[in-house]
Amino acid sequence: MSQNNIPYKTYLEESEMPKQWYNVRADMKNKPAPLLNPATLEPMKFEELRPVFCDELIKQEMDDTTPYFDIPQEILDFYKMYRPSPLVRAYFLEKYLDTPAKIYYKFEGNNTSGSHKLNSAIAQAYYAKKQGLKGVTTETGAGQWGTALSMACSYFDLDCEVYMVKCSYEQKPFRREVMRTYGASVTPSPSEKTEVGRKILAEFPGTTGSLGCAISEAVEAATSKEGYRYVLGSVLNQVLLHQSVIGLETKTALDKIGEKADIIIGCAGGGSNLGGLISTFMGEKLRGEADYRIVAVEPASCPSLTRGKFAYDFCDTGKVCPLAKMYTLGNGFIPSANHAGGLRYHGMSSVVSQLYEDKLMEAVSVEQTEVFEAAVKFARVEGILPAPESSHAIKVAINEALKCKETGEEKTIVFGLTGTGYFDMVAYQKYNDGEMSDYIPTEEELEKGFATMPVIDK
Ligand SMILES: *Cc1c(COP(=O)(O)O)cnc(C)c1O
Repeated sequence: MSQNNIPYKTYLEESEMPKQWYNVRADMKNKPAPLLNPATLEPMKFEELRPVFCDELIKQEMDDTTPYFDIPQEILDFYKMYRPSPLVRAYFLEKYLDTPAKIYYKFEGNNTSGSHKLNSAIAQAYYAKKQGLKGVTTETGAGQWGTALSMACSYFDLDCEVYMVKCSYEQKPFRREVMRTYGASVTPSPSEKTEVGRKILAEFPGTTGSLGCAISEAVEAATSKEGYRYVLGSVLNQVLLHQSVIGLETKTALDKIGEKADIIIGCAGGGSNLGGLISTFMGEKLRGEADYRIVAVEPASCPSLTRGKFAYDFCDTGKVCPLAKMYTLGNGFIPSANHAGGLRYHGMSSVVSQLYEDKLMEAVSVEQTEVFEAAVKFARVEGILPAPESSHAIKVAINEALKCKETGEEKTIVFGLTGTGYFDMVAYQKYNDGEMSDYIPTEEELEKGFATMPVIDK
């Protein structure tokens, strides 16, 4: 097919939507390391995880061998409300950059929650409902996950308790109100509602909270009440599994227009959108069927992959969660106030970490001012106002397209545009007023974070 025949947007038919999620772990030679029980340092067993997570989700979490999982009909029906999502040919961005590269982006911001997180929220709510639970608890940082989960819970008539990092709760009142509109209760974290919250408040009075601390509170809230479980919006294997719809749709759309990706780029916070976008392509790579350059982009202020350690660490500040082996900056690492809230997590998905350790993918870090510069360029030429998190991928896609301009190579670049930035206008305001600053942690600051990690020789 000639280039001119490629539409600006490629949509799939409903009948072409994936009916199964793809589990990339099945094709990995080196499997991601199992979650460990912090008391015994033995791999967590199904029974030990049952008080925290839904049964069906634990099975998905622990399954490293089944390549495909059927997507239940109820979830497929919900997906149809906002999927398939378009694969967009960024003709205007290409023209603006004057590059011979072909740029595509998979746009996941076309739903009220404004991000890809709804893909997993609806799955997790479904399995909680099916198990006959009353409700779920969770944490939210920037608010996207809490919003997605509150939408999913209202659909299945489940109670939804959100612990929202205090500074976001105060800075993003509109996000909070979207969650409440969908029926969720939202508590600023750390709070007096949980033991761990009270402990953190006593130790650090006046703290504005962190994601790791909100996780500790949400887990305690779930395990101390009958009929509740905890759900998480990123990092876990099950979340990457659900997010595989992004990559599966992307692959089908590319095949439909006769295109093959050379470079695939995604932003990485906990690794779920990236893991989901790359999964099916990584599968081909692992099976030796095709080759791709795969690039994770993280903020220079929270550089888990590019400057972190690959080791067992706690997923939360309160150290109530199991240990995960991952690239981490240490559970006690507090990132500076970067505006890409969804990327401010000390760790990284075990799957993404293992793939990176095995050199099957690359990682780069970028600074926030250059990210917003890319975001504004993109908004002006492509029309979509991108989320700050997504703009990390935009920045690197632009860099790669400009390299092609120098070499004259006609590479095909695909990146994940994970969401919209309507609730991030304070950040855009800072950028527009020329008040945005960059922060790169020093070696000393990183050492402080590493010092909070448990010493485990596994
Ligand atoms: C949460 C979020 C991210 C980062 O989370 P991952 O799990 O790394 O995908 C990226 N973009 C948007 C818009 C988000 O809401």
